[in-house]
Amino acid sequence: MIKLKGIPAAPGISIAKAYKVGKEEFDIPQEAIRPDEIPLQIQLFEEALISTRKEIIELQKRISKDMGQEEAQIFDAHLLVLEDRMLIEEVISRLKKEQVSVAFIFSEVLKKYIAVFSKIEDEYLRERTADLNDVGKRVLRHLLGKEHKGLKDLKERVVVIAHDLSPSDTAAMHKQLVSAFVTDIGGKTSHTAIMAKSLEIPAVVGSVEATTKIKTGDMLIVDGTMGVVIINPDEETLRVYQEEEQKLIGVAERFVAVKDLPGETKDKHLVKIVANIELPEEIPSVKVHGGEGIGLYRTEFFYMNRKDAPTEEEQFQAYKFVAEEMKESSVVIRTLDLGGDKYLSQFEMPKEIQPFLGWRAIRFCLARPDVFKLQLRAILRASAYGKLRLMYPMISSIEELRQANVILEDCKQELGHERMKFDEDIEVGVMIEVPSAAITADLLAQEADFFSIGTNDLIQYALAVDRANEKVAYLYEPAHPAVLRMIKSIIDAAHAHKIWVGMCGEMASDEVFTLVLLGLGLDEFSLSALAIPQIKYIIRSVTFEDAQAAAVQVLSLSTTKEVETFMRTKLKEILK
Ligand code: PEP
Ligand code: MG
Repeated sequence: MIKLKGIPAAPGISIAKAYKVGKEEFDIPQEAIRPDEIPLQIQLFEEALISTRKEIIELQKRISKDMGQEEAQIFDAHLLVLEDRMLIEEVISRLKKEQVSVAFIFSEVLKKYIAVFSKIEDEYLRERTADLNDVGKRVLRHLLGKEHKGLKDLKERVVVIAHDLSPSDTAAMHKQLVSAFVTDIGGKTSHTAIMAKSLEIPAVVGSVEATTKIKTGDMLIVDGTMGVVIINPDEETLRVYQEEEQKLIGVAERFVAVKDLPGETKDKHLVKIVANIELPEEIPSVKVHGGEGIGLYRTEFFYMNRKDAPTEEEQFQAYKFVAEEMKESSVVIRTLDLGGDKYLSQFEMPKEIQPFLGWRAIRFCLARPDVFKLQLRAILRASAYGKLRLMYPMISSIEELRQANVILEDCKQELGHERMKFDEDIEVGVMIEVPSAAITADLLAQEADFFSIGTNDLIQYALAVDRANEKVAYLYEPAHPAVLRMIKSIIDAAHAHKIWVGMCGEMASDEVFTLVLLGLGLDEFSLSALAIPQIKYIIRSVTFEDAQAAAVQVLSLSTTKEVETFMRTKLKEILK
């Protein structure tokens, strides 16, 4: 029995035999060509790009239908590679100069690009080398007339073991046949990991030695929650994990059974369970999973993957669509949160040394009222068609809230003069995600209609841990007593001023924290749609009184470890 440790990429337990997939290497001959063959080679190249494009669009359609629009959009990056003028021109000019086959030249240019990307320090950009590799291989297959076998030939349920898996490989996996996967490389934010979560396939990435230690046919236990892989387990270990796997299956059925019921505790304390979305296309998934509304609509995704900023009319149509689709359920639209790891070329944003501490979110919007006003006008106009609320990200002082509200008032006046309909009393909330806002929550609460705690950022700023840096990921601790105290004081300040408070950071989706957040008095949990049934189940299984007692106890603990152990024990009791 050998145990490997990796990075947990998608939760769950799976027990099955290993199936190792080799690296797809292309042996590309450096074939000389005659000058009169150059036009034909260029044509071949263009045809390969067009066929690859068609193939990716087909794949996107299938993924969009099976998994959702967000997953399909991962392949937009691949389409962009196919349109990259610099890359295409380099291939053609080298082809003319060097007079060797276009397949060879293309693979050389691709290698150069990949080498440049893999040296970039930013983890997110570095992981885009996988996208380049993936789309490059597709083009080469067309150039060489090869068929891709991939995982299509699988006959029995296996754990796929690979050095790395491309997002296309992952998308091609069938849940019935791939019970889990393990890779040598990759990080938590790789698109492969994102896909695995959507497919609900347990996955461990970055396990370094998987392909050297594991052979096809080895019996494996993959624990995607803890990031552990056990090779050829002994009987006792196997029995323990089999029991655990069965329990998880049983528990999942219990979650689904309550997904359309309200988020109400046994003693009738009611909280709202709503969803986070990035795109309007996710609304069907919100409804399927029992979301009672939308607690965070991250509008900046609307500005991505396009050359120009969206117009007021385009934004209005999108927000109106969301408002109408959700009918009487409320939708919280967050105004543009650019910057940090969300960079847009349209607005000539400078490259910053510390982008998370830089010109982002409300800071950008207050500096660019032209951009901000278009969005506010679009939100206001859409508010005539449903129950919309708006909130500002990254507020760090009451002055910023007031400045944003002055611009909002301006927009209301303009629309009034233009005789446009809108909800005059639209609720305006503040995201609490900067420690200065958390500490002055009592002041902000006097001028806001609601709060939404953005723990993703609040934790990184409170603990001084870059949320995108894997080297300090071990310090990114939602269970840190400082984080829990902050949350308590934010909720208390909101309630003292009679406003409601939600949480839209990932902490709200983490079942380990549900009991304590409930006990601290959180009014609304805004989660990724998939997590809704489970969180509802937990809330419906406890009493508010017990949750409050648990919160008091947790706040008396002094280390992250103690907090975690306490809450995991409580969760186990609830799910028993
Ligand atoms: C947050 O910071 O918790 C949040 C929800 O916003 P984002 O993850 O988009 O920064
Ligand atoms: Mg944030």
